[in-house]
Amino acid sequence: MSRFQVKKVAVLGAGVMGAQIAAHLVNVRVPVVLFDLPATQGDGASAPSLSSKNAIVSRAIDNLKKLKPAPLGDVADAVLIEQANYEDDLAKLGECDLVIEAIAERMDWKLDLYKKIAPHVAKHAILASNTSGLSITKLSEALPEALKPRFCGIHFFNPPRYMFLVELINTPTTEPEVLDQLEAFVTSTLGKGVVRAHDTPNFIANRVGIAGMLATLKEVEKFGLTPDVVDDLTGKKLGRASSGTFRTADVVGLDTMAHVVKTLQDNLSEQTDPFYANFATPPVLAKLLELGNLGQKAKAGFYKKAGRDILRFDLEANGGKGEYVPSGDKADEVYGRMLKKPAPERLKLLRESEGAQGRFLWAILRDSFHYAAVHLATIAESARDVDFAMRWGFGMKQGPFELWQEAGWAQVAKWIQEDVDAGEALATAPLPKWVFEGPVAQAGGVHTPEGSWSASQNKFVPQRRLPVHERQLFPESVRGSNAPDANKAGTTIQDEGDVRLWTLDGEVLIASIHSKMHAISPDVADALAAGVDLAEREYKAMVIWSPDEMFSVGADLQAMLPAFVVAGIGAVEGAEEELQNVMLKIRYAGVPVVSAVRGMALGGGCELAIHSAKRVAAMESYIGLVEVGVGLVPGAGGLTYIARRAAENAEASTGTDLLPFLTEGFTAAAMAKVGTSALESKKLGYLLESDVIVPNKDELLYVALQQAKAMADAGWRAPLRRPFKVAGRSGAATIKGQLVNMRDGGFISEHDFHIASLIAGVVTGGDVDAGSLVTEEFLMALERKAFCSLILHPKTQERIMGMLSTGKPLRN
Ligand code: NAD
Repeated sequence: MSRFQVKKVAVLGAGVMGAQIAAHLVNVRVPVVLFDLPATQGDGASAPSLSSKNAIVSRAIDNLKKLKPAPLGDVADAVLIEQANYEDDLAKLGECDLVIEAIAERMDWKLDLYKKIAPHVAKHAILASNTSGLSITKLSEALPEALKPRFCGIHFFNPPRYMFLVELINTPTTEPEVLDQLEAFVTSTLGKGVVRAHDTPNFIANRVGIAGMLATLKEVEKFGLTPDVVDDLTGKKLGRASSGTFRTADVVGLDTMAHVVKTLQDNLSEQTDPFYANFATPPVLAKLLELGNLGQKAKAGFYKKAGRDILRFDLEANGGKGEYVPSGDKADEVYGRMLKKPAPERLKLLRESEGAQGRFLWAILRDSFHYAAVHLATIAESARDVDFAMRWGFGMKQGPFELWQEAGWAQVAKWIQEDVDAGEALATAPLPKWVFEGPVAQAGGVHTPEGSWSASQNKFVPQRRLPVHERQLFPESVRGSNAPDANKAGTTIQDEGDVRLWTLDGEVLIASIHSKMHAISPDVADALAAGVDLAEREYKAMVIWSPDEMFSVGADLQAMLPAFVVAGIGAVEGAEEELQNVMLKIRYAGVPVVSAVRGMALGGGCELAIHSAKRVAAMESYIGLVEVGVGLVPGAGGLTYIARRAAENAEASTGTDLLPFLTEGFTAAAMAKVGTSALESKKLGYLLESDVIVPNKDELLYVALQQAKAMADAGWRAPLRRPFKVAGRSGAATIKGQLVNMRDGGFISEHDFHIASLIAGVVTGGDVDAGSLVTEEFLMALERKAFCSLILHPKTQERIMGMLSTGKPLRN
């Protein structure tokens, strides 16, 4: 396969999806030009000047800055999206290697647009539509012959920055190489999980997901349950998105949902989908749509907030006209307990349960298995694609086939068929033959080490391996495929103190922290130190990486408390000093230590990362020194780092005043700021220009290992221990002056003021003259002093207890 370089992308349509896709392209540093219709005066353009013609696009870009969750990793990057309209700028399409069409969901409008743009699209470029339901093949028919082989579907999920799934859909005329090229780009550059879908209505995730939603609504009606109870049952407890069924619909938007439902209604029939009768718009949805209660964006949907209360919509209330009534009912506890049992027992208990809630749960699971099995042959290449689509597009922990297989393939199949025969299922269609006979029955399921079942090809097909997948050392895999488990893979050298020290290649030592939330207890710190010793003796480099979605939440307060109670403050100070020493050991190690950050790196986790020789961070990394939230100051070198970075940055500039270089770091620590992306974490100073940001979470380890080896091979040496200048007591006085204003203005509490003053004292070097040279050890001693004085403070103790009991920062 020749290399497909994407130097620039055009996105057509600056609506909900187009604008956010453009934002994500900017996040991953791909130049993008965003098109929409030329604005008329009614669109907010006052005169037909060049810029006002882009009013639709520029308004959409403005909106990106306000949208939650944030589409941009750094809002300041909004200016990087180039604005364009179809009247003046079609020539710009010629500069683009990929054109993503995301205009309104109308076949005629899309076809008109394709006619208009086709002459301007570069010969080598790929044109792809983000349609959620229109036939990709029909869309391709209007294209000039030359463009047809380079046209396909690219179905993102909303919000595109955060949703992992992208479905790619070919037509009979799409060149196979085109889809491979696009998959490589979407996987590695955009950081997504690709599923190839057949060109059938709503593709895979929305087809199975929305059919599942409609089935759930049917069963809700049948069992007479209320949305609050259903959401409690169908959220986290069931291994699905925590918003459950109805709140998810509110978040997605009931109009969007109705749209997808309509695609099912319009494009399917009793003949093509035996479940068709269930696709009628449910009365409660029709009513909410009629009322304009479209969900979260309309501030009313299945739920509505009234002051501090949450109400739910009850269609039967108010004489059948419907009204909002109090909500908040929870599921019976017994079902919560059942859902924690191993899959075979869980499904059996649910199926046999007497209560409505249990029978409802069995019913919706059965419906999802039944639907997926009946449609597997037409909608997807294999069962794996269905399971991935449901995990990545609908936030399920397991897809339908995985769960079915785990619960016992033959037994569950028998139950489903019994329900079908008894007329209890949502369709009379029998389960396909392959469920009961042949290779699937023999293997006890659809996922095997050989591959996953393809009902259209009648065989197990292995996972697609393109060159880009070589970058995923532990790709997501389905149960039953026997894929290597990152928690056990490689050679384990030591697994003590909640840290596994292991290696894949004998060259780089990998340290994986596996304590709860990867908190750093004294044992974890010891194990990391042992890792550095081992790496120095026997390896080229060390990488700190964990297989799950978390780097580390920081020092383990819970582990620190007993020491404090038994041995007093001296013990805390000793533990603190040990942790600081581990940080210095990492910084000055004889081999490069690379931190591979993903998810939260907070407090001590952040300190671990900033003391590493380099950081490789997933785009979704949230890094910050948050100790102020528990009434403490960063005490494992965090403040020392801030002071040192300020001195280094000042040194590199012509200015002599340290203070301006200190402000950003001081504020970040004093306000416990956390970067909401790797890009923002960089702005806060916790990632450096030389660090690497990796869009795809599954490539993180690969990149970290490559970086670590390259550093070692390039003759890496630890930095020399160099004393640096501090701003001294006059600097501290200036910062404190500002803090007084904030306190007196009521912006910060007395205790916040006290903590911030202590932070100011440390980062300026304490009671020394401006410009004095200090060492890291000197500042770390100040950190410890501040830390220990706070631990004895009643207000800090209140904050710590608050955090330990509620998990949320307490402000006092
Ligand atoms: P939207 O209504 O927010 O935006 C549509 C954009 O198309 C607008 O900016 C509008 O100015 C432009 N437009 C309208 N008519 C046009 C025309 N005749 N020619 C050119 N441009 C025109 O829509 P959206 O939700 O962003 O959806 C865009 C596409 O993405 C649709 O195909 C939709 O099915 C698909 N999609 C939507 C979602 C979602 O959750 N909203 C998810 C996945 C895919």
